[in-house]
Amino acid sequence: MQNDPVQQDFRYRFLIESADVRGVVVRLDESWRETLRRADYPPTVAQVLAEAMAAVVLLGANLKFTGKLSLQVKGDGPLSLLVVQVTDQGKVRGMADWREEPPAGADLQTLFGAGQMSITLSGATPGQDYQGYVSLQAGDLAGALTDYFAQSEQLPTQIALSSNAHSAGGFLLQRLPGADEDEGWNRASQLGATLSREELLGLPVETLLHRLFHEETVRLYEPEEVEFACNCSRERVAGMLQGLGEQEARSILAEQGEITVTCEFCRNTEVFDAVDVGGLFAGATPPDSGHAH
Ligand SMILES: [Zn+2]
Repeated sequence: MQNDPVQQDFRYRFLIESADVRGVVVRLDESWRETLRRADYPPTVAQVLAEAMAAVVLLGANLKFTGKLSLQVKGDGPLSLLVVQVTDQGKVRGMADWREEPPAGADLQTLFGAGQMSITLSGATPGQDYQGYVSLQAGDLAGALTDYFAQSEQLPTQIALSSNAHSAGGFLLQRLPGADEDEGWNRASQLGATLSREELLGLPVETLLHRLFHEETVRLYEPEEVEFACNCSRERVAGMLQGLGEQEARSILAEQGEITVTCEFCRNTEVFDAVDVGGLFAGATPPDSGHAH
């Protein structure tokens, strides 16, 4: 054993065999700091974003999917938009937009106002797409997602989320589908409820699980890698501009001299000048023009 826990990003799934309960532990270190490096979030916005990123990685753990899983909230409150995504390859990214800095300790309704939280699975496999809605009635994100599982999957679920400037952490316990009695769940969830925010952010997974469940039989699976990655590219921006159409692209060009598009997730900026825009539409049918130059 090393003295210093290795700082890293991971997702571990585990099974409490003696209680018919499954669980997930997520920690985002570098991926969270990378997100913070790219935007200047007020502390209260950063906290919600960090917890949402940990949450979406938690939610993806027990889903077999290809493509991406997104958690999104739109509202008319201080926090107007929050989007976090994880792919089946463990690539995570997130962004938030705010109108004003929310008060510390604000509940979800104060943060987002009248809004909507959704969970979307956009798969590479046709027919796999899914969208579900999460109520904003709960005090915090962990509570909202706990209610969501209780309603949508009818599985007792416990979720804890925590963050600071260096790390985001998530912890999930869920009764196994098909478990036919509550005793194991009651025992495991009571133990799970004693997990502190500091333990979630600081302890190595083995230590954390031992501290909580040392009297149970726990099987810990191999860790899954999680890392910050954005799938934006110059090609995607080019495709978006082509989608706008030549007339619209040229009118932005005429107005601004060049077209600048910044990715909201990674802040990468792509600039298209007149020559680039000309190239985008070189093969296209020319717009309806009366006379040639
Ligand atoms: Zn990007």
